[in-house]
Amino acid sequence: MKTFLFILSCLFVFIQSYAQDSLWHSFSEESAKRAVFNIVRYSGLPPNFIVRENASIKTAHAFIHKDQRWIEYNPSFLAQVNDSSNTDWSAISVLAHEIGHHLMGHTLNPRKYGPGDELECDRYSGFILANMGASLEDALAAISLSGSEEASKTHPAKMARIQAITLGYNSALILDDSPPLHIQDDRFEYTHSIHFEGDPNTYYFTKVMSIVWLDEYAQAVEFGTVEVHPKPSYEYRFQFDDNWFHVDFKGQIWSITQYGVFMNIGKCKPL
Ligand SMILES: [Zn+2]
Repeated sequence: MKTFLFILSCLFVFIQSYAQDSLWHSFSEESAKRAVFNIVRYSGLPPNFIVRENASIKTAHAFIHKDQRWIEYNPSFLAQVNDSSNTDWSAISVLAHEIGHHLMGHTLNPRKYGPGDELECDRYSGFILANMGASLEDALAAISLSGSEEASKTHPAKMARIQAITLGYNSALILDDSPPLHIQDDRFEYTHSIHFEGDPNTYYFTKVMSIVWLDEYAQAVEFGTVEVHPKPSYEYRFQFDDNWFHVDFKGQIWSITQYGVFMNIGKCKPL
């Protein structure tokens, strides 16, 4: 009986520790700090980031607080992307994306990030992971797993983000070989330039009726679609982030709020 009870209690301890491992397994602050240190090292910058876990946020975010560059992350989220994708590169790519927000200057301006800003950080994460020795599959693991198929209010759709990471990854390999003088992207011809209020990025309509953002090598990432407007009072409408935007014949871009209020949010110019 005693032996049976002993085995039973061992089994209980085992089950309890297994449950703790799997349910409360989390990405330690030490791992996050080491990852950030390495990412920054590969960028050739001093490691002046404050890295903290914060279980009350959903994923990870970058911000400036009292002149310091902060990155906070949810330890369970990072552990989960690593576990589900079976690679530690997943958490590294999430942190690299957040560091990107600091390095590209997005956190200096607390306005809402535009889709181009998010793609720029995805591109940076692909670039850094290639330099750090990850495979393309590793660099894409986190986004393949946690990216959403549909664009959201804050992030472009998964397909666009995969394209941006791949561009960054490939550009690191090209730089490794021999620095290119010019990389041509002749997939698209552009018909209009687009500017949104408060967003310094330029976007373009293409002849194939998509809307694209260009990276610093002038390579295009498609993140939305354009069509001739069904109403005669407008020329075009385009869609991303779950929203439709309307372009009138003067090139003004309008967004219609849920209360039916028209807001002028930018300008569209033919090229
Ligand atoms: Zn972001």
